[in-house]
Amino acid sequence: MVSPATELKPAGKHPVVNPADGSVIDYVAWSTPREVDQAVRKAAKAFESWGRLTVKDRVQVFFRFKTILENNLAELCRLCTAENGKTPAESRAGVLKGIEVVEYATSLPQLAAGQYLEVSPGVTCRMVRDPLGVVAGITPFNFPVMVPLWIIPLALACGNTLVLKPSEQVPLSAVRLREHLIEAGLPEDAFQVVQGAREVVEALLDHPDIRAVAFVGSSRVAETVYRRGTGQGKRVLALGGAKNHLVLLPDADPDLSAQNITASYTGCCGQRCMAASVLLAVGRTQAVIDRVAELSRNIVLGEQMGPVISREALERIAGYIDRAEKEGAKVLVDGRRAAVKGKEGGFWMGPTILDCVTPEMQVAREEIFGPVLSIVRVDRLEEALEIERESPYGNAAAVYTQNGALARKCADSFNASMIGINIGVPVPREPLSFGGRNRSRFGWSDITGAGAIEFWTQTRKVTERWGEPPDGGWKF
Ligand code: NAD
Repeated sequence: MVSPATELKPAGKHPVVNPADGSVIDYVAWSTPREVDQAVRKAAKAFESWGRLTVKDRVQVFFRFKTILENNLAELCRLCTAENGKTPAESRAGVLKGIEVVEYATSLPQLAAGQYLEVSPGVTCRMVRDPLGVVAGITPFNFPVMVPLWIIPLALACGNTLVLKPSEQVPLSAVRLREHLIEAGLPEDAFQVVQGAREVVEALLDHPDIRAVAFVGSSRVAETVYRRGTGQGKRVLALGGAKNHLVLLPDADPDLSAQNITASYTGCCGQRCMAASVLLAVGRTQAVIDRVAELSRNIVLGEQMGPVISREALERIAGYIDRAEKEGAKVLVDGRRAAVKGKEGGFWMGPTILDCVTPEMQVAREEIFGPVLSIVRVDRLEEALEIERESPYGNAAAVYTQNGALARKCADSFNASMIGINIGVPVPREPLSFGGRNRSRFGWSDITGAGAIEFWTQTRKVTERWGEPPDGGWKF
């Protein structure tokens, strides 16, 4: 699979780069608008039979898919690491989280069984869930397997057929998922993968036969996708970016908090929508901050932390740090100019801690999407909560304390949807749904869990009455 970086680019194809060393691992052709249209047409044809199967029959594919994914776990993780740069442990965690959604989808016959009620004497109403038709998924670079698996199993098991466009930066894992699904028995045309960037997304949003779109990516693009898709009558759920705040209180467990805060902002090299970004340190918290700095300095790049996705991302993140420093922030731990021996062509950024950040600074307001923790020091909890509440995002927030009443106060005050108490990456597990609020989510419902079943189906209510038998009963 690996080709030397010096190899000539095949005509019309785009290189897929391993962020760890900058080598080209493959080339992928981007889909033309005509190919997007063909994919949608094939999916529409496949819907005629896939959509008519019983949900019990459809989920059999996903029982087999789960086993195939487990049997191919190591290879799938290698591919994920090669195209995204995650450490092997991070790839494994992401793939396993994705498999959880597959497992959830196998329970659909129980979860989506419908409802039945006698609504007045002799009159009954039953509600069933119908699929929508052809739907689309558009995914970001940071979880090449997990985020597509938020969408694929539930959209398909609900009876839709799907066209997925993975990030152009990590186009390979989604193709492998499709191969595994076909091996599991999914009709080939029921799930199509198209490749490319903005143009392909727009072709999907504008296609009249696509009924619903699930998007995951940055807020700027999420908003555009939401507006363009809903403007054309589509159901759209567009999950956006994040700026997650962690509130550190003076009574927090020092070891647990320090380790957890470090893991939250450095995990996946800070490239996850649940990563800690701003540490709101309330009062006397210096001991924990010192420990976070120490743990951060000890992280071995290339082993415990991977690279960022691209040179462009590296420069963007370094630009944020440079600006903050000029504005008066103190660089407590500096990840700029990081390198890994033997991988000099990689996009390496070490853990970075900025202290004495003020809420007005760019690093305190904008999503950086890299391993950068900005510390804002405040005297009172109320100040911390106010800063968190003013963020236009609303994905995650967390508090570190040993006081239950304070933990509850924070949980009830945060302006985010996924809240952690002594947990820096508070990802809800199935059947609880994943998703934020404010500029972290455009549209309604959720991408996983019970909310996803709502999103991928429409309901039908059949109200029935049958006449009384004639005098003397029915005669046949
Ligand atoms: P991105 O917004 O750049 O790209 C996401 C997808 O949109 C990709 O498939 C890309 O090809 C496409 N795209 C890019 N620009 C477009 C445009 N102008 N018009 C139409 N489509 C376009 O995001 P990314 O850099 O791949 O991923 C990182 C972002 O995703 C971060 O902001 C992160 O917080 C967010 N994210 C959010 C969640 C969540 O659940 N809320 C989960 C993962 C990642």
